[in-house]
Amino acid sequence: MCKNWWQRPLRMMRRDYLGDFSKFLNADMDKLARETKTLWKANCEWIMATPGCAPGTGYLVTFNSEKFEKLQGLGKRDLLREYVPIAKKHKLHVIAYINMHWYSYEFARKNPGWEQLCKDGVPYGQKHPLYGNGTTFCVNSPWRNWAFEMIQEVMKTGVDGCFLDGPVVYPEACYCPYCQKKFEKFSGENRMPDFCDWKDPLWKTFALFRSHSWAEFMRDATNAAKQINENAVMFLNGGHFNTSNIILGYDAGRMEMFQTFTGAEDFFHCTDLYRSPYTSLNLSRFLSAGKNPSVVFTHHTLSSWHYVPLPEAELSTALAQATAGGSNTWFAIFYPAIEKTKKYATGALKSTGSLISRAEKYIAESRSCAETGIMISNQTLYFYISSHKGLSYQAGSGREQGLIIDSGKDNDTADINGMRKVSEEILNNENHGCLDLCNFAHIPARVIWDEYLDETHLSEIKVLILPDAACLSECHIDAIMNFVRNGGILISDFESGMYDSEGNHVARKHWLEFLGIKEICGVFRPSRIEDYMVLTEKIGNIEKDILIPRPVNALAIKPAKDARILAKFLKPINLAYRQPEGISDYPAIIMTERGKGRVVYFPSAIFESFNRFHIDIHKNLVHSLIRMITPGGLQIETDAPGSLAMELRENEKFQILHLVNVTSDMKRPMDKIIHIHNVSISIKTNRKKAFSLSSGKSLPATFQKTKLSFVVPVVNDYEIILLS
Ligand SMILES: [Zn+2]
Repeated sequence: MCKNWWQRPLRMMRRDYLGDFSKFLNADMDKLARETKTLWKANCEWIMATPGCAPGTGYLVTFNSEKFEKLQGLGKRDLLREYVPIAKKHKLHVIAYINMHWYSYEFARKNPGWEQLCKDGVPYGQKHPLYGNGTTFCVNSPWRNWAFEMIQEVMKTGVDGCFLDGPVVYPEACYCPYCQKKFEKFSGENRMPDFCDWKDPLWKTFALFRSHSWAEFMRDATNAAKQINENAVMFLNGGHFNTSNIILGYDAGRMEMFQTFTGAEDFFHCTDLYRSPYTSLNLSRFLSAGKNPSVVFTHHTLSSWHYVPLPEAELSTALAQATAGGSNTWFAIFYPAIEKTKKYATGALKSTGSLISRAEKYIAESRSCAETGIMISNQTLYFYISSHKGLSYQAGSGREQGLIIDSGKDNDTADINGMRKVSEEILNNENHGCLDLCNFAHIPARVIWDEYLDETHLSEIKVLILPDAACLSECHIDAIMNFVRNGGILISDFESGMYDSEGNHVARKHWLEFLGIKEICGVFRPSRIEDYMVLTEKIGNIEKDILIPRPVNALAIKPAKDARILAKFLKPINLAYRQPEGISDYPAIIMTERGKGRVVYFPSAIFESFNRFHIDIHKNLVHSLIRMITPGGLQIETDAPGSLAMELRENEKFQILHLVNVTSDMKRPMDKIIHIHNVSISIKTNRKKAFSLSSGKSLPATFQKTKLSFVVPVVNDYEIILLS
């Protein structure tokens, strides 16, 4: 058993009363604590130490303190000191929520010099009022000491730790005198670059400085809390994988040593755009790739309508996906909606919530045992800018309507800032597309951060995928090459490894040769109309010569002599209803043998196209290649549809197969999850028995050589199978 409570599976929740705590003050607190466990299936509760509501009330407290102003209407009542002992009686851990990013203008006026400033000296909160009203402070200003004192006052109430909602290092900021001085020391330069001006080399240094400042704040905040309670847990919000990380200073790897949990939001949003059914699973796997326990934050609300509860199917799948990916769960409910929410939530919490709560002792201390690793490179998210200007051509939507087809146009802003935008779009689609391709193809996958792309971590996997992991260090390149020479399989695409860790284009001849590339001749014009590739030999069930849509973005390369060409691009057409003009000389997939291992290289951004168009043949190609060249074949073979994701984890006792069912009414928010019957699964393992945790029954299973095969009679929203 783990020594510390925060290393065991946690199910967190928060009741949000906004600015009016009268409902809480007048409630039967004992009943609330009991409901946290029985109704909401949680074992850890957050309580507001400072409210997070208009007009920026982060400076007011809900407990008695001689140092801080109390929220009006509380009188002598002390929310924290009253509730903490009651919660503890019910064996709940209590974490205080502290709003550290939203303050009123009036409070800012009383504390000149604390606000984050834009380059022109105007406070960020004046230009961009927070949530319509309020401002925000700088981590390098004297506000930091005020914040640390706040944390200590909160810790004195007896809570187990603090969640800091913020500080956020906001876009366009901070250029305050404190940052100026500190940046001079950091960079040796006595000027500051314009925000996000990629033409100025100092921008990258400034970006690193912002992320560094944020981590330093967290380091000192954690130290402050530990002065009051050495076991204090401390964490904040922010650990996504997106190219906006550089704008917000996010860097999960840099931050992890200064916090207890790595957490980030996957709030449900109603959107005009496609939304993957697996966002919580993908985020969960990313967050759990570090050393800390992780947590996915889920609002129990319908998008931005906070007083309408999240539909049952969406709550259920969010909790299931967070758990399957190895993270703890968290959700917030908003007071005016609580009574309604109770009704709506009961179903999801009774089934999925109960299953997760019952699984606690089986899934504790589990880690991924997926054979496939996907590198999500934060340094690529920070610095990637493709050097191929030809990629800036806008491929258009390809939509045909009223005898007009949108076939694209030249982009007149192909300068470095324009190219960053183009590269961001490719990279974000690559990362999400790669994770989702594995979900839909039932390939269990773990995420690997830059920090952990080393011999130790690579020795735990058989297949490494680089989804346009462009900005790699020499150490990364060496580790990957050794991994392959020792028998590993590398699937690499597009511009992986063609830039250094700061985003500078590098020749790296040895790396290109390793991938099977003799020369990069240029790029194809981005296209989504009448451009294709064909296989030159059969791969899995995919016949040669059938036309496969060419991914939008592709490099034209000459292969090395020893590269086996598996597919070629057709000569580009990019015009609708025109006859194909034959096969080009440029390969679309090449494979090379390197030492005991193999490399498959796609010169195109194939995962980007999967994320944008969801075309099965792109998924099937990758799936078939992995099956074909991985010793022992795929980790899981199944007849399940792509809407049943499979994740494989293990601890000392069990291998744990998580099945997340998102089969639904083909939209989000999902209404109902449709149950799947008689799912055949064959899994590479040395375990001989399968047990369904949802039904509490053993599943008849046959073991042959290295594979355990069984049928799951029915999968509802979520199923956990224990292999022993
Ligand atoms: Zn500042």
